[in-house]
Amino acid sequence: MSQQIQEKYEESQLYKIRHSAAHVMAQAVLDMFPDGKITIGPPVENGFYYDFDLPRNLTPEDLEAIEKRMRQIVQGKHEFKKTVISAEEAKKIFADQPYKLELIEGLEKGGTDEYGNPLKEKPEISIYQHDTFVDLCRGPHVQSTKEIKQDAFKLMNIAGAYWRGDENNKMLQRIYGTAWENAQQLKDYLHQLEEAKKRDHRKLGKELEIFIFDDEVGPGLPLWLPNGGILIEELEKLAKEMEEAAGYSRVRTPILTKEDLFLRSGHLPYYAESMYAPMELEGVKYYVKPMNCPMHHKIFGAKQRSYRDLPVRLAEYGTCYRYEKSGELFGLMRVRSMQMNDAHIYCSEDQFEQEFLGVVDLYRKYFDLFGIEKYVMRLSLHARSGLGKKYVDNERLWLKTEEMVRRAMDNGGVPYVEAEDEAAFYGPKIDVQVWSAIGREFSLMTNQVDFAVPERFDLKFTNKEGHDEVPLCIHRAPLSTHERLVGFLLEHYAGNFPVWLSPEQARVISITDNQNEYAENIAKQLRKNGVRAHADLSSQRMNAKIRSAQLMKVPYMLVVGDNEMKAEQVSLRVRDGSQQNNILLSDFIARAKDRIARRAAGL
Ligand SMILES: [Zn+2]
Ligand SMILES: [Zn+2]
Repeated sequence: MSQQIQEKYEESQLYKIRHSAAHVMAQAVLDMFPDGKITIGPPVENGFYYDFDLPRNLTPEDLEAIEKRMRQIVQGKHEFKKTVISAEEAKKIFADQPYKLELIEGLEKGGTDEYGNPLKEKPEISIYQHDTFVDLCRGPHVQSTKEIKQDAFKLMNIAGAYWRGDENNKMLQRIYGTAWENAQQLKDYLHQLEEAKKRDHRKLGKELEIFIFDDEVGPGLPLWLPNGGILIEELEKLAKEMEEAAGYSRVRTPILTKEDLFLRSGHLPYYAESMYAPMELEGVKYYVKPMNCPMHHKIFGAKQRSYRDLPVRLAEYGTCYRYEKSGELFGLMRVRSMQMNDAHIYCSEDQFEQEFLGVVDLYRKYFDLFGIEKYVMRLSLHARSGLGKKYVDNERLWLKTEEMVRRAMDNGGVPYVEAEDEAAFYGPKIDVQVWSAIGREFSLMTNQVDFAVPERFDLKFTNKEGHDEVPLCIHRAPLSTHERLVGFLLEHYAGNFPVWLSPEQARVISITDNQNEYAENIAKQLRKNGVRAHADLSSQRMNAKIRSAQLMKVPYMLVVGDNEMKAEQVSLRVRDGSQQNNILLSDFIARAKDRIARRAAGL
């Protein structure tokens, strides 16, 4: 079932197209600025860039002209030709290109490639030429510019970038472009970008009053508004129901602990950079916790355990704090305080497969519920060269545990890919990547198999033979953190949450003040029946009231005028545009309760 890690990006046709488009762009820029200096231009995710040192600042009109020139160039069907040359020859070719000369010197010395990245061996020096343009380059490229389809690339924007990323160096002008195999792929990508902008969780989070950040509270520390509070309550309710059914026990642990605990777990000193600085109380250092595991280990270890008690599954929606540099914070996706859908499963080796698949099963149920159609589990393995450094120094255990995970995935029919040298310190991990409704990829969840830390905590159970045995520990968080999950769901649903998740499920709208009492009464009855509702009794006209409910993406609007009041009925307008006039309130309540109870996707 394990697919070999898909074709490496560096070897793909798309990479060659983008790399070649970067050359073509550099040629077009030099046509426009014959004295311009070129630096480097690698492919990146979704496209490419090239950095230039030019006599003046580029304008959006320049980008259009450069793009136009690029189209002419690619139609010339020029071949890309590689030549291996000596450093001397290279210096002659690039005599008036000082940045290239610097790169050639780097190549000559060895230790860096033509982009200035560290390199183990001394590279050969090569150039690629197409048409009149020559670049210092080791490829790979497409055969001919005709493989760069003239309607499948686009220049996106201009940005500033320091030469070699060093702010002491000169500021260069970077042009970003995107390139694809065909026009349709480009169109799809541009559409996705546009949708992602509309669905940006920071924008929707503000509009739908889900969360805010406050300067005096601090960066990366979200404040959940009442609507966000409801989302979180609903997600926790879901997790708790599912975990209870799957045999988990709930525990609670404090936010602060003594330094000793993290010394024992090994987080200190290795993980210290990601932790908040300690506070000292009565001569003892205390840390706010970056994760819950060590405390759960203590709970497991607080009692004598026999094989009959296993597996033990301890769950907690624990709040953790991690220090992230302020420049790396990003909305809800990268924060400093987080509430994690955390649990630790302690089991024996022969229980491992069943427990592991139990976790995978939970994932799949959540994916079904949220309509996540595309996902990949990525099994991250150790690398021999990292043993004793990045990884616990016990190759035998690594190989054994990795094989156990692989077997469990194979036997459970779980699609996965393998990635070497990306494991956690104490064991292999499974990163789960999911795709939102508009096809953007998110890394939200991780499972880890831990064969090392239970031993550090002296965790044990008495096995069937009456001997002490160290349990395995599975760390899992299928619903990620509230922060990341809500960030993802905002984009995934574009804010149109299913009824069960919607902060406000129904809004009652009176047509005139005459029906205000009736409207208020209906809202009360709805709330009594477990439907989150309120009545809009403002003096606005009905259409304005409907508009404001639509802006908040409320799934149900109940409009009441004199007719409805006399007949003790309501008129229902659903978020999807459908409408049902004059229905009994009890019929609407039955419908809403059914959608909520089933956590239905439909309205
Ligand atoms: Zn190149
Ligand atoms: Zn953990």
